[in-house]
Amino acid sequence: MRIAYIGLGAMGRPMAANLAARFDTRVWNRTAEVAHRHAEANGTTAVEDLVDLADADVVCTCLPTTVEVEAVARVLAPALGEGTVWLDHTSGDPQQARDLAALLGAEGVDYLDAPVSGGTNGAEAGALTVMVGGDAGALAQVEVVLDAVAARVVHVGPSGAGMAVKAVNNALLAASLWAAAEGFAALEKAGVPTSVALEVVNASSGRSNATENLFPERVVTRAFPNTFSLALLAKDVGLARATLDAGDVAAPILHLVDRLTADAAEALGGDVDHTELVRMVERAAGVELH
Ligand code: NDP
Repeated sequence: MRIAYIGLGAMGRPMAANLAARFDTRVWNRTAEVAHRHAEANGTTAVEDLVDLADADVVCTCLPTTVEVEAVARVLAPALGEGTVWLDHTSGDPQQARDLAALLGAEGVDYLDAPVSGGTNGAEAGALTVMVGGDAGALAQVEVVLDAVAARVVHVGPSGAGMAVKAVNNALLAASLWAAAEGFAALEKAGVPTSVALEVVNASSGRSNATENLFPERVVTRAFPNTFSLALLAKDVGLARATLDAGDVAAPILHLVDRLTADAAEALGGDVDHTELVRMVERAAGVELH
């Protein structure tokens, strides 16, 4: 099985490294130097020209949005062999993913939207959750590939369904970050440190990934390590909004979360870690969470 991996960012780097431990893996990155460093460190083969990936059996992409994936696909797809499977790990747009599936399908390439969850820790451990939209037969062909990067793979529906599930998941992540920040800011003002409140909440019914992992590791420590940018989270919540609107679901909470997250990315700069959105709540309340 020959793998081509496109996009060696925070997620793509460790995913491609895990693939290289099991398969012949070629890598391409917009900034070529990153691909060469990856090859030296992980035993992948760096290519500078996308068409040098043409003999791959499976093409993986992990880029910011579906727009960048489509641009790459327009260059590479005509060179790919019939029956190649394109596994797109980007958190992308469901409709654009369906369009891309049609574009690639015309070249005999099976496109699966296969966004991932689990962050950079999950990517390093090869323990991601993958939500797959598209043809079950194509998914069966790449199960062995997904096994190298994932602890759980769920076929969620037809083309685009994986992207929709990912967008809603990340809207829920953003909602729990905002809600927890508000609650803990109020408790700080009432004299309860966030670290103490977390001891209670994480043994109680208000807990979430935000309270169990993100607040203790990133907020209370004031470390805010940048593993997943606020710009990417804002993008995902915006994509969830499109899904809600398309389904004609009145969603006042998630629409508000979308607006707040977009505003935070603008105010703080999108390059910071997503958890830094709590600074918006801290500033408005005049407290810091410790
Ligand atoms: P990063 O910003 O770390 O990396 C982005 C990658 O895309 C880099 O390889 C970058 O190349 C490349 N890229 C950017 N623009 C272009 C372009 N125009 N053409 C070609 N390549 C381009 O992103 P992440 O790895 O964090 O995220 C990738 C995807 O995974 C996103 O959709 C994100 O939402 C999703 N995701 C991220 C998670 C995380 O915890 N970080 C968790 C789950 C999903 P270059 O090196 O040249 O800049």
